[in-house]
Amino acid sequence: MKQIQVDQLGGPDRMKLVDAPNPVPGPKQALVEIKAAGVNFIDVYFRTGLYKGDLPLTLGQEAAGIVSAVGADVTEVAVGDRVAYAIMARGSYAAFAVVPAWQLVRIPDAVDFEHAAAAMLQGMTAHYLTHSTFPLSPSDTCLVHAAAGGAGRLIVQMAKMRGARVFGTVSTEAKAALAKAAGCDEVIFYTTQDFEVEVKRLTGGRGVDVIYDSVGVTTFLKGLNCIRPRGMMVAFGQSSGAVAPLDPSVLNVKGALFLTRPSLGHYCATREELLLRAREVLGWTASGKLNIRIDGTYPLSDVAQAHRDLESRKTAGKLLLVP
Ligand code: NDP
Repeated sequence: MKQIQVDQLGGPDRMKLVDAPNPVPGPKQALVEIKAAGVNFIDVYFRTGLYKGDLPLTLGQEAAGIVSAVGADVTEVAVGDRVAYAIMARGSYAAFAVVPAWQLVRIPDAVDFEHAAAAMLQGMTAHYLTHSTFPLSPSDTCLVHAAAGGAGRLIVQMAKMRGARVFGTVSTEAKAALAKAAGCDEVIFYTTQDFEVEVKRLTGGRGVDVIYDSVGVTTFLKGLNCIRPRGMMVAFGQSSGAVAPLDPSVLNVKGALFLTRPSLGHYCATREELLLRAREVLGWTASGKLNIRIDGTYPLSDVAQAHRDLESRKTAGKLLLVP
């Protein structure tokens, strides 16, 4: 079968399309024929070595497809099921992937493979951030960085579902239009405006209750000045680069703030929790309550271009590989 492999860490051209043996599912595993695979920053981090994996690496932690075989003791899915998954298994940049069966979620009939693959990782991330890490209520104001981005657009939509007031940062007019269409009450151009000044102005000096920060080094420290006392900084990503180590006493000086660095795996820790989030995300996708934006679809052979596009800051929504 066709598969993307990395035998040396580095740039996008290190990813090679190879012929690999068809994988065989072991106990409690299922073999999924991949119909669409999500392209995510986590794949970039494994490719460059920021996140560690053994070489040769397989990449891709999000996909939708059809169960084509199951190992022993699999109760969650059956051959022929339309399924999607995110995060726990690596290797979805391929024609087939072996996945722990408990990670697989059935796709509603009304959702196609592309939208299911596009919804899983960023959708469940937006879900845990807005419903669990800092459960928003109508009295809350949040700041969402990169509000037109893959995770950002979905966080904005879910924050509005929960009734919060939502500020979003973006870099361009086109992204501002997308962030507003997703539901942002206020859009801030963080490349040309001082977002701290804007947040203080828009909140009468109080600051927001929570920041969902996927951008990292360029936004993190200034963000701490924009949060009300005892509010929360949710540092969940690093599209501009990793945040430097922090002296905890800074959180006291800034107003007894809470800081968390969450990840999807820890918020889908059991099958029950995974199903709760995935069913809501895929159900809202089916009903149209959640709008999933696919920004590009590539064959496996164009994986390097997909990574270049994701890292280029030009995308707004999901990039997919279709084997
Ligand atoms: P996005 O679609 O948000 O793409 C990145 C966006 O970040 C860009 O479009 C850009 O928006 C903004 N950005 C700001 N500075 C830069 C820069 N220097 N280079 C590139 N982009 C920049 O990506 P995702 O939503 O997929 O992921 C964002 C981050 O969140 C990643 O670090 C990812 O790993 C992380 N993440 C973490 C999860 C978790 O559970 N912890 C789960 C999902 C994602 P603009 O042009 O408007 O500034």
